[in-house]
Amino acid sequence: MARGSDPVTILKGVGSARAKQLAQLNIFTLRDLICHFPRGYEDRTKILTISQLQPDVPACFRAMVMNTPRTSHIRKGLDITKVRLGDHTGYISATFFNSRYAQQLEYGREYIFYGAVSGDFVGYGITNPVFEDPHGPAAATRRVMPIYPLTAGLSNSVMAKTVAQALAICDPPEEILPEAIRKEYDILPAERAYFAIHQPQSMEEAEQAKKRMVFEEFFVFSAGLSLMRAARAEKTVPPYENLNLTPFYESLPFALTGAQERAVGDIRRDLGKGAPMNRLVQGDVGSGKTMVAAAAMYLAAVNGKQAALMAPTEILAEQHYRSLNALFAPLGISTGLLTGSMTAKQKAQVREDLAAGRIRAVVGTHALLTDATAFQNLSLVVADEQHRFGVAQRARLSAKGMDPHLLVMSATPIPRTLALLMYGDLDVSILNQMPPGREKVDTFLVGESYRARINAFIRKQAEGGHQCFVVCPAVEQSEGLDIKSAALWADTLRQTVFPDLKVALLHGQMKGGEKEAVMASFARGEADVLVATTVIEVGVDVPNATLMVIEDADRFGLSQLHQLRGRVGRGKDKSYCILTTRNRNPETVRRLKTLCQTNDGFRIAEEDLALRGPGDFFGARQSGLPAFRVADLSFDLETLKQAQAAAAQWIDRYGASDGKEAAALRERIGELFQRAEGTMN
Ligand code: ADP
Ligand code: MG
Repeated sequence: MARGSDPVTILKGVGSARAKQLAQLNIFTLRDLICHFPRGYEDRTKILTISQLQPDVPACFRAMVMNTPRTSHIRKGLDITKVRLGDHTGYISATFFNSRYAQQLEYGREYIFYGAVSGDFVGYGITNPVFEDPHGPAAATRRVMPIYPLTAGLSNSVMAKTVAQALAICDPPEEILPEAIRKEYDILPAERAYFAIHQPQSMEEAEQAKKRMVFEEFFVFSAGLSLMRAARAEKTVPPYENLNLTPFYESLPFALTGAQERAVGDIRRDLGKGAPMNRLVQGDVGSGKTMVAAAAMYLAAVNGKQAALMAPTEILAEQHYRSLNALFAPLGISTGLLTGSMTAKQKAQVREDLAAGRIRAVVGTHALLTDATAFQNLSLVVADEQHRFGVAQRARLSAKGMDPHLLVMSATPIPRTLALLMYGDLDVSILNQMPPGREKVDTFLVGESYRARINAFIRKQAEGGHQCFVVCPAVEQSEGLDIKSAALWADTLRQTVFPDLKVALLHGQMKGGEKEAVMASFARGEADVLVATTVIEVGVDVPNATLMVIEDADRFGLSQLHQLRGRVGRGKDKSYCILTTRNRNPETVRRLKTLCQTNDGFRIAEEDLALRGPGDFFGARQSGLPAFRVADLSFDLETLKQAQAAAAQWIDRYGASDGKEAAALRERIGELFQRAEGTMN
């Protein structure tokens, strides 16, 4: 018996070339092979007659070779072998390209073939069918064939054989699901499931095997979150002694909303408790999350500690830095900024100040938590837009031996099941109230025929001293894709539509410093129109902007459009959002109209989820989640719910034990989170 950790090269037929191909797929050991699951299956179990074959539907049939195969050499590198096949229902001609095996087909013998017939009025034929001896093993016909993710030079049949070899000499990963749970949720035992996922007897068995793997993955993940939560609850940190927020409140230009006050109250209680805080603040765009974070950072600073705020983009980091610095400087709290695009010298200076404790509150991107950054006494980490600061990073922080208070802030309302998956280990405060005086952003959906009116409206805003965002789905025009690009559209507006206005351009491919300069200049009111891509999506705050035009709005998800719309209506003036689309699909139009009807982020998110499924819903934001191997959020919600329930049962029963079951599961949890880590950044 071989071991799971043995290299693939111990298998027959796997030399260094094949090992390199496998490495392309991250397969190095026998265990990796066994865990390389098919992405789908072909049902080759039924044997049809020639007359039953349907054009373009692949199937197995048993047929006799009716003549001696004839091979013609067409040109260098192209040999064609033709042979006639028949059974009691009819005949069919088969054509093979460059097949040495086909030349060995024997006249008068029967084989099982698998392939799809195709053809025209000249007659049906079949090209490159797979075939094998009806008396030999069922390797490529008469079975459910697993279809594997592959890489150049590696064929599916070689992959299937290699995996089968590994399974034959090496035990699959051990069982981690207790029998009681398997019974209750109708889950195959591990050993059977691993065989069945690679070599199912039927499509039903393949389905069951897949369900087991998905269940297991969600189970491990959910149990991991619960254990993380439990482990953190056991940790102790010195409680903050100074919990007086009065000076902070007094320096604010406005009174906090009731919801903000409640969230700050939750945080204040957490920080005084003596255990690390793990809190999510969830609130729609514009609900004022930054001030809640600022209150927490203020408390860290006045307790002689350091706080770090991490933003998903440099633009946002810079903006937060500006507002926090304005707030904190009069309170005697030194604030710093650290982003990837600063010069090495600037970065070194900030790092030195952080290490010496001269900076109490620092704002930055993920660069903030690299090994190069040492803090004097980091006590609070705030993550803005938690999707990009997922479980994996949280795990990484604790792995570094750091257990700072954590505050994550999210503007994306997420239905409860998914919420558990994203942040099942966090406590939650919800900002369900907008700062006073906010008027609803009036939203319109229009087609190209409104272009002149849109332009006139932009001009009207500019003449009133206000600013306007124009968001395009692409940076540059790409061939064959008819969508507006920011670069081209900015040129058009500048040269032909608004030669007398200031039109600025902002997109993700610009350098960090450039982006910041454009954004800062726009925030100072130096441009009337900012043409941008979705880099402005998260958090950017320009209260003087009163109009958001989104070009080709059908290219965006509803939640994303809602986020974009949240960039206006942040000041006291009436604001508008215009969605343009050239798409007339009634379903698309209906979907976009949701935005005209409501400003409620939760309703929009639910509509988005119902329409697109959770996989798409998270889209690019999904990076905070682990890389599930088999589980696919878009259709495994039901299994996710079951696995979550099962994980809760498991934790109740074995959570604290250090028996065999617990050890095996913990190991699996470690692997999953590590893999999540590998896919980050
Ligand atoms: P988000 O929740 O989207 O991060 P921000 O924190 O950026 O929202 O706040 C949006 C705007 O509302 C900012 O201009 C901020 O200064 C302002 N704001 C926040 N809280 C209040 C409040 N209690 N009263 C008035 N304005 C507020
Ligand atoms: Mg924000």
